[in-house]
Amino acid sequence: MGRGWEGVALKMMRGRDFELTVTAVEDVTAHCRRLRFADGGMLDATGVHPTLWVRLWFPNAGRPHQRAYTLVDPDPAGAAFSVDFALHDGPASRWASAATVGDTLQATVQGSAFAAPVPTPARMFLVGDRASAPAIASLLHALPDVPATVWLETQHDSDEHLPAARTGRDHHDVHLVPRENAGARLASQVRTALPELLGDPAEAYVWIACDTATTRDLARFVRRDLAVPKSRTHALGYWRS
Ligand SMILES: Cc1cc2nc3c(=O)[nH]c(=O)nc-3n(C[C@H](O)[C@H](O)[C@H](O)COP(=O)(O)OP(=O)(O)OC[C@H]3O[C@@H](n4cnc5c(N)ncnc54)[C@H](O)[C@@H]3O)c2cc1C
Repeated sequence: MGRGWEGVALKMMRGRDFELTVTAVEDVTAHCRRLRFADGGMLDATGVHPTLWVRLWFPNAGRPHQRAYTLVDPDPAGAAFSVDFALHDGPASRWASAATVGDTLQATVQGSAFAAPVPTPARMFLVGDRASAPAIASLLHALPDVPATVWLETQHDSDEHLPAARTGRDHHDVHLVPRENAGARLASQVRTALPELLGDPAEAYVWIACDTATTRDLARFVRRDLAVPKSRTHALGYWRS
């Protein structure tokens, strides 16, 4: 399958390609499907870090369609990892809904990076939704002793069963916020609660990954209004509403 300009751009960024093979299919919730992949040598080349993501290539009416996805339970020794696909009406999501064991998918590694915040934050503030729930879970797992406040925007009742929503740890304070007005309810709730919880901005760590407009809005608020240093924030839009 030719990939057009997107593939060329990634190649110029030294993207490396791997073929993934589906080895297991599991429904995490009614709207989240987990696929386990044999990694085609990928983890050997990339190593593993929290929030690690890759670009996956999906068929879409004969045209290539590339979207980013986060690795869940990566196992370099077993050359395998999973991906939790939020299910909605999109080509990547539809592919995941129909995938069966033995199906293959191309992956391009562009250079996902993660720097653990130093010094270790007094508290982490994580804002996301189904798409970034795997990355949030990986952050909570990577910094297990750091207290965390999580705002998780939900689109379905079943989202409360996502792993990021049920960490089972007393020092993880998870707020489920139903998606309303294109993310405005989430933004409003964070804007109201965060200033009181933040403490010293230089000791906090604020990580934001929801739809692009909400992410941009909250990142501006955190950096400009709350004066959290750029080095103590991470903001990346995960999908376009
Ligand atoms: C670094 C990174 C890591 C990511 N990791 C994951 C991951 O692990 N799991 C995951 O599910 N997603 C993840 N995403 C988000 C995923 O790439 C997008 O949701 C993507 O748009 C899905 O592609 P699609 O082909 O299904 O839909 P598209 O063709 O992009 O969009 C089709 C329609 O679906 C809507 N849509 C797209 N995404 C969502 C959504 N999440 N919720 C509701 N409606 C949506 C769009 O607004 C549009 O109307 C990640 C994104 C980034 C940037």
